[in-house]
Amino acid sequence: MRDIESSAAINSIIDALLVPAGAPGIFGRTEIFERTIEGLNRLITDRRESGAEVFTFPPVMSRSLLETAGYLKSFPHLLGCVSCLSGDEPHIRGLVEKADWVDALGATDLVLTPAACYPIYPLVAARGVMRNAGRSFDVSSYCFRRESTHEAGRLQSFRMREHVCIGTPELALQFRQRWITRAEAIAQELALPYQVAPASDPFFGRMGKLMAMSQVEQALKFEMLIPVLSREQPTACMSFNYHLEHFSEIWDLRTEDGALAHTTCVAFGLERLALALFATHGITIANWPATTRAALGL
Ligand code: ATP
Ligand code: ZN
Ligand code: MG
Repeated sequence: MRDIESSAAINSIIDALLVPAGAPGIFGRTEIFERTIEGLNRLITDRRESGAEVFTFPPVMSRSLLETAGYLKSFPHLLGCVSCLSGDEPHIRGLVEKADWVDALGATDLVLTPAACYPIYPLVAARGVMRNAGRSFDVSSYCFRRESTHEAGRLQSFRMREHVCIGTPELALQFRQRWITRAEAIAQELALPYQVAPASDPFFGRMGKLMAMSQVEQALKFEMLIPVLSREQPTACMSFNYHLEHFSEIWDLRTEDGALAHTTCVAFGLERLALALFATHGITIANWPATTRAALGL
């Protein structure tokens, strides 16, 4: 395995794989980077549990659904909203010909999807009571987050693949545990050094610090950390989240016995996983370990 010496190493890897596209954390992807992401997607698909329902969501979602989900209480600082110009042709023409057209933008009914699993809970709720004890979903989406720093691997626009379980508390927790085990097997197959550690979400403000502490105390979130920037400070490439009844209370998601469901989601950050592969094994795929190449079909 190569040694990741400094952030200079990852920066030269990023220069070779991603093309800056005019704003921090926004990149075009090269062919080889995308082939790696395709390989990762296939690998994750192969591990999918039987019976999982599969959905691909667009990079925008309903603003009111995200408001109902409570996103603005927890992460208002990360949210991006779609704003547009409205009015008749002379009005819009007049605005765009002036320098201050941005001031005339108005919020629409759309926001940029911040995590792939948000659309699934209202979708399932709309179907009514779940007829079997636990359901699982494989969802993916481009996600947006208005990150305040832009170190390697912290993008503003990135892809997330998630496996979600909605069911009894036992089934939801077992699902998360099975996926932790599967994720470890994936990391081993890819010859990636990893550790799974307790984690918290980047909740907003002073109250957010308390929420983060309670999340760690209750062991609600774990992350798989893999070196991207450095060996000493590995990067969260996957997360394993237990929401208790949070989403079920909001959407009235109930199992057959009438109880509120519990939900878990397991998220794969596809760009971060790809960067971890290049950071660990080098820029030349021909030099990667045979097991890694075979696993990814590269
Ligand atoms: P971080 O700890 O880096 O702030 P997070 O805890 O907010 O990330 P989650 O909400 O658990 O991340 O998101 C699931 C996964 O999506 C992460 O494990 C990571 O792989 C990926 N991810 C999150 N934010 C970004 C980002 N800004 N750029 C690229 N990938 C990201
Ligand atoms: Zn999720
Ligand atoms: Mg985190």
